[in-house]
Amino acid sequence: MNSTLQAFASLSALLPYLDELHAKAEQLDVPSPVTDVLRDLLKNLNEPQSYSRAIRPHSIIDVLSHPEPGKRSPLFSSREHQDAQELFQLVSELVKKEAAAVDTERMHERGLGAVLELTADEGEERLEVVKLAQRAVFDGLTANRRSCFECGYTEAVMHFSFDSWQLPLPRTTACRLEECLAEYTKLEVLTDCICRRCSMSATLTRLTEDVERLAADPTPSNSRKRTLREARKLKGRVEIALKEGRVEEEIKGLKVTRVFSRASTKQAMIARPPRVLALHLNRSLAYGAYASKNPARVAFTELLDLSPYTTGATLSTRPDAPISSPSPSNPTPPVLYRLVAVVCHYGTHQFGHYVAFRRKPPIKPPRVERVDETGEIRFVGEGSRVGRGWLRISDDNVSEVGVETALAEGSGAFMLYYERVLLPEDDATKTGCGRILRSTRAGRSGNGVGCASGSEGSETSSGESRGTSVTSVEELDAPRPTEDVKEASDALPSGREPRMVEAL
Ligand SMILES: [Zn+2]
Repeated sequence: MNSTLQAFASLSALLPYLDELHAKAEQLDVPSPVTDVLRDLLKNLNEPQSYSRAIRPHSIIDVLSHPEPGKRSPLFSSREHQDAQELFQLVSELVKKEAAAVDTERMHERGLGAVLELTADEGEERLEVVKLAQRAVFDGLTANRRSCFECGYTEAVMHFSFDSWQLPLPRTTACRLEECLAEYTKLEVLTDCICRRCSMSATLTRLTEDVERLAADPTPSNSRKRTLREARKLKGRVEIALKEGRVEEEIKGLKVTRVFSRASTKQAMIARPPRVLALHLNRSLAYGAYASKNPARVAFTELLDLSPYTTGATLSTRPDAPISSPSPSNPTPPVLYRLVAVVCHYGTHQFGHYVAFRRKPPIKPPRVERVDETGEIRFVGEGSRVGRGWLRISDDNVSEVGVETALAEGSGAFMLYYERVLLPEDDATKTGCGRILRSTRAGRSGNGVGCASGSEGSETSSGESRGTSVTSVEELDAPRPTEDVKEASDALPSGREPRMVEAL
């Protein structure tokens, strides 16, 4: 629990969201116990204390243990090892549930106007529904598509929301995070999917044969005549449906012959990137009834560009092509994230210990200040020199480290928290970021980008710069700045450590 809460405390977007949710819930008198205690706890964790006593998070254990009246969460029903990913999931879901309850009450009290917000899109102002539940900081959308190679049919691209990605690690000794992301979003070939169009084509063949056979009868009975009329009618409707591409529509009385496509493809890409990208490096290896831990070392960088896994302006319906590919004439803007916390697991699959690495308060949104001539991206008002700027938290044992220590935790890394980078208003810096990202692309594999943090001059680099597929940052949909975060966390004097959660 400690490691997950410490990771949450390092997210600049989370506390302002909880503040807003708490205020609206209070205003509308909607109970929001998880939001309230989480908000208090995160504030406590980031504030300097004059004494070094650890916090006992009874309040959050209470609300998480009983997510519904009379129900006890299995996560807290025993003294067994708590899974950091399951805890993340539980908190994320409960906060979203409370946000949805607040949205419902807002709609109930004041109608649709309560959740409408005026937005400007390409100079055109329009009203959009802005629900708190849809703006949860971990939430994004994936675009999912399934296509048949045999007939070329593509089902409509579906969108699904997600709050984290579970990335299975390969059974190798080492890999890069970008390889896991590429594997997760790759075009997958399937051989056991039913294709609607292949099925409708087979149905048409069957009906055509039925009509021919029935029509060949020189002395048909009345019932055979009726069957023939019905078969002709259905055959005509199936022909029209196939001709007009309306194969999904139900036809009354039609029994569809189900056909498995021998080759179809499916793919999921990010359609709306979240403000906080929570990545679970799934280290579970199953051997029949037994499970063990995959110790693969995962190399990850401080800056991550998600654009290779994100859909662009145009979506493809070709079965053999990705949903969206970078185009030289219409390049995808970068979708930049910066690492804010790493939760590591040491031990075996069943037993072990979690350690958190997180940015040291004050916590500020990752806002780009400028791009150096050397190609390093500088962030506003932050220092992250070697050996400084991060905390290693193991129960109540806290020590200051640098980002390089967190980045070296490839074998233990279990959950990675990345926060969306905010680009500045001025075009010069935006262009600079675009230029630097473009220049790191050529001739390299993967998509990590080099970076440095710190207004005082950083000696820290995330290491190797790797290629990206971006050339412009003009259209980056950066989240709105959260002013209260900037102000709220300036208070930690140097030399004081934030509080910790007592081990459970
Ligand atoms: Zn097909």
